[in-house]
Amino acid sequence: MSRLNGKIALVTGASRGIGRAVALRLAKEGAMVAVHYGTNRDAAADVVRQIEQSGGEAFSVGQEFVTAANAAELYEGLDQVLEQRTGQRCFDILVNNAGVGLVAAIEETTENAFDQVMNTNVKATFFLIQQALPRLRDDGRIINLSSATTRISLPGVAAYSMTKGAINTLTLSLSTQLAHRGITVNALQPGFIATDMNKALLQDESGYKFGAEYSSFGRWGEPSDIADVTAFLASSDSRWITGQCIDVSGGSHL
Ligand code: NAD
Repeated sequence: MSRLNGKIALVTGASRGIGRAVALRLAKEGAMVAVHYGTNRDAAADVVRQIEQSGGEAFSVGQEFVTAANAAELYEGLDQVLEQRTGQRCFDILVNNAGVGLVAAIEETTENAFDQVMNTNVKATFFLIQQALPRLRDDGRIINLSSATTRISLPGVAAYSMTKGAINTLTLSLSTQLAHRGITVNALQPGFIATDMNKALLQDESGYKFGAEYSSFGRWGEPSDIADVTAFLASSDSRWITGQCIDVSGGSHL
């Protein structure tokens, strides 16, 4: 399969978890992948190495998201590499995957924790898209990682779920604004996926069972369950889909 031959993708938070699986999958489809990382340069280098060993093309680009200015800083780094490799700065696919969880009851949620989850999941995504627009080619793709917690009320994750609600609204709002360029904007809503974000649940017997029983299939989602759908959304096969928040939760709580 090579649905993404000639395309260039930026995947944020791609050094591990879902982002890593997405980077590997898009590269397998033929895209050149910018593997973004926040702090773990070595893990991102491993992803790049794995892609190259499989005959794909990738490079890493680092930037921790703390303030809005960090989006511009990320693109400065990306621009440099793209100019070296391709002679221009444009790319085709932006996967806004980087994000943090926050498990805390509303009574226990501090302002600092609230700001951190909002800044990473909402503010960084907003400004990454803003700065991407002049660089994204027509018929491009913006794919945002949301969460099934926007549909299913899960106790203890109110602030986190609010960030993903904002992502859904952003997705809908931008879709009509970018349609004249053939750019689609969609969000994916995973349920429980077996990644480091859920380390505590995965390591606890009752937590593991809780996560598995959430899905209609009685198992935890794997990062590849999300990456495969992302590859479809990144391809031209999805050209008639925009402004959608797509449930990829293995039929959780239907
Ligand atoms: P993860 O913790 O394994 O990976 C998150 C990635 O985001 C990491 O690479 C991390 O470095 C990066 N990141 C976090 N904060 C950052 C910051 N301030 N600056 C730069 N990079 C930063 O998590 P995951 O499970 O792979 O989740 C990926 C996305 O999917 C997230 O947006 C998450 O909210 C969403 N999601 C995950 C699940 C799940 O069950 N794992 C469910 C629904 C949605």
